[in-house]
Amino acid sequence: MAAAGRLLIGFVLLYAIVAAGFSIVFLRKIESDARYTQEQQLPLVLSQNRNAIKVERLASLARSIYLARDRELERQLQLQTHVLAQSFTLDENDELAMGVQQVSGHVKQIVAIRDQIRKMDSGDASPDPAVRANLERQALETYQSAMHVTDKLSQSIVSDAAVLAYGMSGDIQRTAKMIQIAWIIILILPVATAIGAIYVVGRHIVAPINSAIEGLRSIDRYETRTVKLRRPLFRELSTIYRAIESYGRVSSDLLRANSILQALSEEDGLTTLANRRSFEKRLGDEFAKATQGGTDLAILMVDLDHFKSINDRYGHQMGDTCLKMTANVLRSVGADRECHAARYGGEEFSILFPGCNLKEAIAEAEKIRLSIASLLIKTGYDEVIRITASVGVATVTSAKFETSAQLLENADRALYLAKHSGRNIVKSLPSQGRTDLKSITA
Ligand code: GH3
Ligand code: MG
Ligand code: MG
Repeated sequence: MAAAGRLLIGFVLLYAIVAAGFSIVFLRKIESDARYTQEQQLPLVLSQNRNAIKVERLASLARSIYLARDRELERQLQLQTHVLAQSFTLDENDELAMGVQQVSGHVKQIVAIRDQIRKMDSGDASPDPAVRANLERQALETYQSAMHVTDKLSQSIVSDAAVLAYGMSGDIQRTAKMIQIAWIIILILPVATAIGAIYVVGRHIVAPINSAIEGLRSIDRYETRTVKLRRPLFRELSTIYRAIESYGRVSSDLLRANSILQALSEEDGLTTLANRRSFEKRLGDEFAKATQGGTDLAILMVDLDHFKSINDRYGHQMGDTCLKMTANVLRSVGADRECHAARYGGEEFSILFPGCNLKEAIAEAEKIRLSIASLLIKTGYDEVIRITASVGVATVTSAKFETSAQLLENADRALYLAKHSGRNIVKSLPSQGRTDLKSITA
């Protein structure tokens, strides 16, 4: 990933240098184009402009000479025409040079014709009208030729200037277009690169990280499914990926082991009934449910009678068998109605009946007592062991119990009463749990 970071920085730097290089080239090109326009093309346009004005002036001088009919004025105008013709910027423009020369010649010719007419007019003999009219016509034709030449020159200068201006604007447009395209490329390239980078980062960095997080969450939620991660692009992420995978595997193993241990910690090893710890937890939960919901809950404490003597007579192993058989009896009760049986300790069992009132609880206790009493437990020596049990019953609604411990104690006291009443019997206490047992058992 560090290598990728360095690569990215290197790429950005390289791109900045290339973009700066291109920018310098473009700016140089704009600068040289601007200089060329300023030094070469603009003076040309300006000189064309000046020449156009001068041609106009030339035409106007020729017109004035033709209309003057005064020798002195004609001479002055001819001189001005001569000076103007010298002032043209010719720039190897042969057409313009020739045109200006022609107009000068025409002007000179008009002045000469006019001199001739004046000479004829001032002579002794009256001038021949036909000759005079012929000279006048020559002067008019010469003037018209001069006008024709100046018109042609004006048109040519204007079209030259137009071509020049068109060329200049074309050059500027071409340069602008080139710069526009270059800048679009320079700007689009990083955007395209950024989109590509976002895609690569999203697919090969963000997605694997998200999938790793999801994997960790599923482990947290105790989901035992195999953590399946998207394969990342970078070595560092691969390491995290593998670590999470093995963490997921270890976690599921631990989860399995934990659930086995959990079950074992809540179970009695001999009878596989719930043990005292889990029973007391269940009692607390059911007691809270019953008191909050206003329902009843019955608890039965079942204790085998004279069990010590069974052990003494048939051995501890047979005693265990008796305990297991008793557990089976309690388990079978669960097939008929909802209940939770447990081995409370030694040869004492307990059983909870949620939603069961005292009358129903005593009936269930009777059934259990009779079932235990009817067990025929065979020894290895063709002997049959008979066992009995005393049962103490208490229900939530039979007295005002504030805690589950009080309910349990009440059932215990009822069991004590059953034992004192001769055993193999079901007993419950009169409504007050705190009744002095001595007064009852006396
Ligand atoms: P009672 O009628 O008053 O209840 O007399 P009891 O002999 O049943 O009561 P006591 O408390 O005197 O004796 C209980 C006996 O239960 C003592 C003990 O050896 C036996 N016991 C407790 N746990 C086990 C066990 O896991 N296996 C076997 N085999 N015996 C056990
Ligand atoms: Mg006993
Ligand atoms: Mg006991």
